Amino acid sequence: VELVRIGVDIGGTKTDAVVIGDETVLMQRARSVTGFGSQAVVETAVSAISHVASLAGTPVAGFDSIGIGIPGMVDGHTGGVRHAVNLGFDALELGAELQSRLGVRVQVENDVKAAALGAYHLLGLASSMAYLNLGTGLAAGIVVDGELWRGARATAGEIGHIPVDPNGLSCPCGQRGCLETVASGSGIARQWPTEDPHPVRDVFRAARAGDAAAMRIRGSLADGVASAVRILVLTADVETVVIGGGLSHLGEELMVEVRAVLTTWAESSLFLASLDLPSRMRVTPENTPAAAIGAALIGAV
Ligand SMILES: [Zn+2]
Repeated sequence: VELVRIGVDIGGTKTDAVVIGDETVLMQRARSVTGFGSQAVVETAVSAISHVASLAGTPVAGFDSIGIGIPGMVDGHTGGVRHAVNLGFDALELGAELQSRLGVRVQVENDVKAAALGAYHLLGLASSMAYLNLGTGLAAGIVVDGELWRGARATAGEIGHIPVDPNGLSCPCGQRGCLETVASGSGIARQWPTEDPHPVRDVFRAARAGDAAAMRIRGSLADGVASAVRILVLTADVETVVIGGGLSHLGEELMVEVRAVLTTWAESSLFLASLDLPSRMRVTPENTPAAAIGAALIGAV
């Protein structure tokens, strides 16, 4: 009997729902707009699950598992979500609410951790991998032998708040010079005030045109991403670092800059050269719902 699973990635603006079969084959996909506030998020999840189930022609109760990826601090045991600032709530018992609405158990996980699991399977990786999410914030999910490694208190991979510059910008977390202040969408938006809805693309455009401030911001983004790759390899010695998230859509233009930083470091350090960091980086394939597929796999646990 074939297993079928539902995965839902609830993002700040869009929600992505998928049905996957055995071997993580994508069978259905449906996207919708995410509601704002706790009850609107619950409604978004319920209708995304019902909709994608109906596309697959299977009642919701007929699926082998259902999983949700959502930004914020997630208690994987209770399905409770806290500090989901971009979704407009501070606390929500999402797992319990969905279970009472749908009559089936729903597993909930942090969106970056879910995407890590999805990318690991989509890229057919073995051994160990870190998924570096360059989005509004900066965080990583670590997968070892096909399983998420959360750490003792689910903090493993929260590298965005490692301070790297004692004279750097103050960070909303209360520290100064965190990686996230230079290598994230929110960090760049703070340094580059613009009407453009995509500040990072705007910075790259201005940098290409020779704007000095934009070139400096682009440079510190590349330094920050390179630092994140180095931190992930030096702390967890993951075989592969997969770059994903909204900023990864800059694709080669960003990766060329990051590889140049890593190559410069390797030229002055035999130790770093021996780690061969540039060849251990990958980018998530475009237009693949890694986070939603990962959420479906989370549900299988
Ligand atoms: Zn911070």
